[in-house]
Amino acid sequence: MNEFQLIEKFFKQPKKNAILGIGDDAAIIPKNKKDCLLLSVDTLSIDSHFTKQSDPYYLGWKALAVNISDIVAMGGVPTFALLSLTVEDINKKWLSKFSQGIKACAKKYNVELIGGDTNRGSMSVSVTIIGDSPRKNVLTRSAANINDDIWISDEIGYAHLGFALSKHGPTMSNCLKKRALQAFLKPEPPMNFILDNKKYMHAAIDISDGLVSELEHISVEQKLGAKIDVDSIPMHKWFKEHNNQELALTGGEDYQILFTANKKNRNKINNSLKKNKLKGGVIGTITNSKKVEFEHKGKLVNYKKGGFKHFG
Ligand code: ADP
Ligand code: MG
Repeated sequence: MNEFQLIEKFFKQPKKNAILGIGDDAAIIPKNKKDCLLLSVDTLSIDSHFTKQSDPYYLGWKALAVNISDIVAMGGVPTFALLSLTVEDINKKWLSKFSQGIKACAKKYNVELIGGDTNRGSMSVSVTIIGDSPRKNVLTRSAANINDDIWISDEIGYAHLGFALSKHGPTMSNCLKKRALQAFLKPEPPMNFILDNKKYMHAAIDISDGLVSELEHISVEQKLGAKIDVDSIPMHKWFKEHNNQELALTGGEDYQILFTANKKNRNKINNSLKKNKLKGGVIGTITNSKKVEFEHKGKLVNYKKGGFKHFG
């Protein structure tokens, strides 16, 4: 049983007053006739997401950033956050750095920390985030149309390389090392780009568990399909040189946005990517095949590692 089956079996229930319940990057609830609120919670736990040696500043940044990512993926503006922190003891130096990291991220995205909870125990950091959006243009995973272009907002794979560096370290240039560690430790969800372009977007999802897995969520689970041209996926040349595009496609933690849009909006979206200094682009098309197909150098390829899963 993986975590998705676990949620389905034990927690999934029909929504009552929510506009959208379990199943997307954030839940949608009514705010007033025109607007809605977006809510999500994400936890980083010791040994699973970080270690005692992890830099507390970046842990603080990332704990909030991964939550902001879920709001951005829904086309919302993050507004408020609650922090639930569990620590083994009071280490003032650690707490000072951690709080600086979370505050820096809050400042960048204009999010207000309004509450939380503090406990003693095995370390974990959980953030609940609230966001805002007009009801009429929230982005969901399930709104793709056949023949839509499939886009990613920036290059992928860096965060997984950064993670690998923190373990055993494949060889790479210092410049790439810096970029990879930055992506792994300090993700920056592309909020302004999404807000500027959501009028063109149909489905959207953040790439937290890896591109392959997120593609399943926006296509196959919606009874559609996707055809992906692996050679057009923006990623550093390291992956091609090491013949390891699979790593970039399945690694996860990119916190970029995968979205779909009508082909007629290609130029406008491309121009906006440039304006926002993002190296994203079109990587494929939504089909009716009910499967995700990857074409690489003219041949169909299969990526077995379907993205990160906590269980199974
Ligand atoms: P994300 O990709 O944003 O991390 P998850 O994969 O953790 O989201 O969860 C998928 C969906 O299931 C989300 O809509 C989330 O709110 C919901 N979910 C996850 N865990 C639970 C749970 N224990 N109870 C209810 N809903 C859950
Ligand atoms: Mg998500």
